[in-house]
Amino acid sequence: MDCIIIGGGIMGLLTARELAQAGMKVCVLDQAAVGRESSWAGGGILSPLYPWRYAEPVQLLAKWGQQRYPGLVDELLNDTGIDPQRQVSGLLVLDTAEHPAAQNWAANYPTRLALLDKAQLSSLAPELGVLPEQAMWFPELAQVRNPCLLKSLTKDLLQRGVEIREQTQVESLLIYKGEITGVQTSAGKIDAQKVVACSGAWTQNLLQDTDLKVEVQPVKGQMLMYKAVPELLSQIILHEDRYVIPRKDGRILIGSTLEHTGFDKSTSQSANDDLRQVATRFIPALANYPVERHWAGLRPGTADGIPYIYADENITGLYVNSGHFRNGVVLGPASARLTADLVLEREPIIDPALYRASNV
Ligand SMILES: Cc1cc2nc3c(=O)[nH]c(=O)nc-3n(C[C@H](O)[C@H](O)[C@H](O)COP(=O)(O)OP(=O)(O)OC[C@H]3O[C@@H](n4cnc5c(N)ncnc54)[C@H](O)[C@@H]3O)c2cc1C
Repeated sequence: MDCIIIGGGIMGLLTARELAQAGMKVCVLDQAAVGRESSWAGGGILSPLYPWRYAEPVQLLAKWGQQRYPGLVDELLNDTGIDPQRQVSGLLVLDTAEHPAAQNWAANYPTRLALLDKAQLSSLAPELGVLPEQAMWFPELAQVRNPCLLKSLTKDLLQRGVEIREQTQVESLLIYKGEITGVQTSAGKIDAQKVVACSGAWTQNLLQDTDLKVEVQPVKGQMLMYKAVPELLSQIILHEDRYVIPRKDGRILIGSTLEHTGFDKSTSQSANDDLRQVATRFIPALANYPVERHWAGLRPGTADGIPYIYADENITGLYVNSGHFRNGVVLGPASARLTADLVLEREPIIDPALYRASNV
């Protein structure tokens, strides 16, 4: 095997795709099922929430990813027949206290931003229950339906001959004289010249026996999904760190909590109550529709949201692409490309020094 990818979330699948496209023999290992953890649980917004709050390393990955998504989604739809459902829904931010910072950001990472008054806001989103005097409108921001993206990516990888082994936990890295030689898994040893840790919230545990200083903590996020109708809402709404995402088929997602409760993925009644209250405050008509699903996922949390993307200096052949916290879907394409650039020793798309462990 040329390369083993540990973890079949969006990071692992996109990284495997990049490497397979370059001709490598790749195997993706997942301790559970591929594409069922954080990447499945997320909202699929193709932008950080309040993007101006993030440091440049995150901005660079996000911008690259936003530009790449239309082409990526077309390729996946053509090759697999599964539509990741990218749609430009636009993002309405109902908090305007940070408008100057947002405007500055929108000028630097060119993005359209309009300040709407109350009348414009209610004509754009007539079902809104919260009507501040002003709101920020980012008409170009998009979303994907992340579970569909993951299904499409998985099928694409299988078509490309990538091996996918589920229920196969990597227990340790195999290292000989400073070089990676493979991994020890729950189903035996697998040899490989290169190994990429795309293990999301579990990365710190995976690397704990090495001297790598990777600080990634699970941060639980709970979401609700209503079964509504497509005409109810067409924009993503963000207010006081809570958001509403309308899908093409009328389903509406409400998110999300931020909980530091370790590897516990249980859902709670209090979060359910809180998110229902958010839902009906934002869109009162949602009270007429049923909640279809309530779930939780574990974000790979880092202190500042800057992921770890690097080739290890002490262990030849070991790479890390983890710790994307709240933004792994939008950061995924650029992170995967940059990781592949490191593995293949190509000219990197972005300076990798921005994402080295020592910098974070
Ligand atoms: C509620 C919520 C909302 C979100 N909304 C958005 C959003 O709107 N936009 C956005 O961009 N991002 C969003 N995110 C964040 C995004 O989902 C994550 O940053 C991203 O999914 C991380 O991807 P990943 O592949 O690193 O992790 P994961 O998807 O968690 O995948 C890691 C995989 O590694 C496997 N694994 C771990 N350890 C091992 C091991 N030892 N051996 C084998 N396999 C292993 C796991 O089983 C898992 O499948 C959200 C997240 C949540 C939870």
